[in-house]
Amino acid sequence: MESLKVTDVSKVYSQKNISLQALDNVNMTIQRGEFVIILGRSGSGKSTLLNIMAGLDEPTKGKVFVDGENISCLKEEKRTMLRRKKIGFIFQAYELLPALTVVDNIKLPQLKPDKGYLKELLRALEIEGYEKFYPDQLSGGQQQRVSIARALINHPSILLADEPTGNLDSKTERAVICLLKGLIKEYNTSIVLVTHNEKLAKDADRIIRLEDGGIING
Ligand code: ADP
Ligand code: MG
Repeated sequence: MESLKVTDVSKVYSQKNISLQALDNVNMTIQRGEFVIILGRSGSGKSTLLNIMAGLDEPTKGKVFVDGENISCLKEEKRTMLRRKKIGFIFQAYELLPALTVVDNIKLPQLKPDKGYLKELLRALEIEGYEKFYPDQLSGGQQQRVSIARALINHPSILLADEPTGNLDSKTERAVICLLKGLIKEYNTSIVLVTHNEKLAKDADRIIRLEDGGIING
């Protein structure tokens, strides 16, 4: 089954008299349970593509389908709801709220309370016992794991991760990647992870290379 499909997506950024084509006719299908890595140099369009997949940004042309539903056609409110239900987003800089505890950060986007699942996530992500801590009391790896728990709280169909290990040392990076691989099996979700780090590529089911806004293989 398809989790996510991108058809003929282009993105042009226009400012005054300058326009820049960040994406050029991108097509991609992600199957449920797949771990896909998008590799590309800085400026190749990775973040633009991921933001469009998440419905955080709109394509200039083309469509994005999440579980078969065309999100480009939805009004802002409906798109936001679909995003909360179906998409988990993991940011490079974690984006935790400093004034909230670990558990309140994780529960922030939650649509339906589920104490059992929350406990399960805390355990799976090895942050049990840190529920009442604040983000600045945690290591980088722990903060990233909290942000992963937050991304999983609504049982998303797909996890989108923008250079999620870019701020971690290589040992912690490995641990986070292994954990993500285990989680997608356990929760039957998919991952699209974008990175410029070739070393991560061997972990993926599939690698897609992006260059100047276009896919050069896959
Ligand atoms: P990557 O994540 O691979 O580094 P980006 O998707 O961030 O690449 O950027 C792709 C291209 O689009 C770059 O040339 C970048 O400068 C440009 N770009 C990204 N966001 C904007 C924006 N909001 N306005 C104008 N240009 C942008
Ligand atoms: Mg980027």
